[in-house]
Parts: sequence; structure tokens; C-alpha cells
Amino acid sequence: MKEMLKQLRLSGLYESLPHLVESARQGQLSYEAFLRQVLQAEITSREQRADRRRLKAARLPFRARLETFDFRFQPSISERLIRELSGLSFLHAATNVIFLGPPGVGKTHLACALSIQALEAGHQVLFTTLRDLVQLIETPRLPHKHDLLRRFTQPKLLVIDEVGYTRLTAEQARALFDLVSARYERGSIILTSNLSFSEWGSLLGDEVLATALLDRILHHAEVVTINGRSYRMRNHMGADTPSPSLTGVGQF
Ligand code: ADP
Ligand code: MG
Repeated sequence: MKEMLKQLRLSGLYESLPHLVESARQGQLSYEAFLRQVLQAEITSREQRADRRRLKAARLPFRARLETFDFRFQPSISERLIRELSGLSFLHAATNVIFLGPPGVGKTHLACALSIQALEAGHQVLFTTLRDLVQLIETPRLPHKHDLLRRFTQPKLLVIDEVGYTRLTAEQARALFDLVSARYERGSIILTSNLSFSEWGSLLGDEVLATALLDRILHHAEVVTINGRSYRMRNHMGADTPSPSLTGVGQF
């Protein structure tokens, strides 16, 4: 039978069949009930494999979940809004989500957590940093240009993390604009940045392009501005320190 299962590529059953046969024998299942169990076992195993493939393909930097996010630590974030976003209606409306704030306040954590929600709902996700993204799309050899753009336009959700740490060349800025235009009203982008929107002109080296880009990104978008202290630095500030500016700890 193992050979037959292999031939039919029913690899999920390969492991579970002996157990299913045994429990059918003990439970005196009807032929129909047994067959149903067998088919269901293969379906479940295929779904699990697909989930794992999607998770791997998403390239999340870490597997942060919403359950491990401490909203009390970051009171400037509306927990209600994040919970609403985690319901994924923003994905269905192709709305973008922008997390703005200084380092360590949880932007990447929240982007990962929403990505995991989307993955678990069966959507394709791709996570990248702006630096990696522009390096890839900037100068693709022509035959690959289409494939490459598809790679970033096809996923239901594209995360562009760390916008602001790299200044873009003119070609990179243009490539980013093309990508955002290609996704516009078709698929959501989650974007994180330490910059305010007024600084995007110098990020892209082109005020006009920055305005056009922001126009597309912000047309349908939820902007979450986080004004808080770094979670990474929490132990350096004392347990009940409300904020560095109030205690004189100053800038990290
Ligand atoms: P940012 O992307 O804004 O620089 P991160 O999301 O990378 O910050 O957060 C830094 C680290 O702190 C991560 O390991 C993240 O999981 C954790 N972290 C940040 N904020 C919180 C929070 N409110 N609750 C729990 N963990 C947090
Ligand atoms: Mg980050």
C-alpha cells in the first residue's frame, strides 16, 4: 500500500493510515465513515503543508503575535484599532496600514502579527525591508522585470519594513513608485517608518515623486502613529518610568 500511496502522491496518508485503520477496526466504522476519515486526513495534511509553505514564503523576520503585544506598555496605540485590523477587513478593501514611530516601539512586531493573521486566514504575504526591496527591483535585467514586479504585486499583503533608514537613488525611488502604483487599490501594503511624511521628499530625493507616492499610499490607509518609548530599552529605565522625556533619561 505504501507504494500505491507514493504513486498517488498521498504522502499525508503515508504516516496516518496505519493509525486510521487500527482505530476504524476498534470503532467498527462503516466503509463510508472510514473512507471519509481517510480523505479528511489527507486534506488536513495538505492544508498544513500549504500553511507551512506560505509561512516560509512570507519571510517574516520573527514570529511575533498579537497575543504577545503588551498594549499597556504602548498606550499611544489604539488596541481597538489593532484588533479591528487583525480582523483583516483592511485586506479585503486593499487598504494600507502605516506604522510610524521611533525605533523599538513595536512597528515590526505589529506588522508581523498582522501578517500572521493574514497567513492563517490563507492569504499570501511577503515581508521585506525597503532596502532589500529597492535593491531587488532597481535594476532587474529586462527578461526578469515582469517576474520581479509580480513577486511584489501578487501577494495579498506586502509588508515594507524600515522605510527611512535608506535614502533612495533616483532609480530606486522610481522603482518604488512603480511598485506602489501597481498595487494601488489591488493589494494592501503594511509600511513601517521612523520618518514623518514630510521627510519623504528627502528620502526619495524628489519632492514631486514623494507627493505622488504618498498620495497613492495614503488614499486608502490607516495610519498608526506610535509615540512611546522603546520596548527594547524598557529594562534600562526602571519599572514605573512613564516616559524618557519626563524623567530626564533623554534620548536613547
Ligand atoms: P520597531 O520595529 O518599532 O523598531 P520592534 O517591533 O522590532 O520595534 O520591537 C522591538 C522588540 O520589542 C521586538 O522583539 C518586539 O517583539 C518587542 N516589542 C516591542 N513593543 C512591544 C510591546 N508593546 N509588547 C511586547 N513586545 C514588544
Ligand atoms: Mg522594526
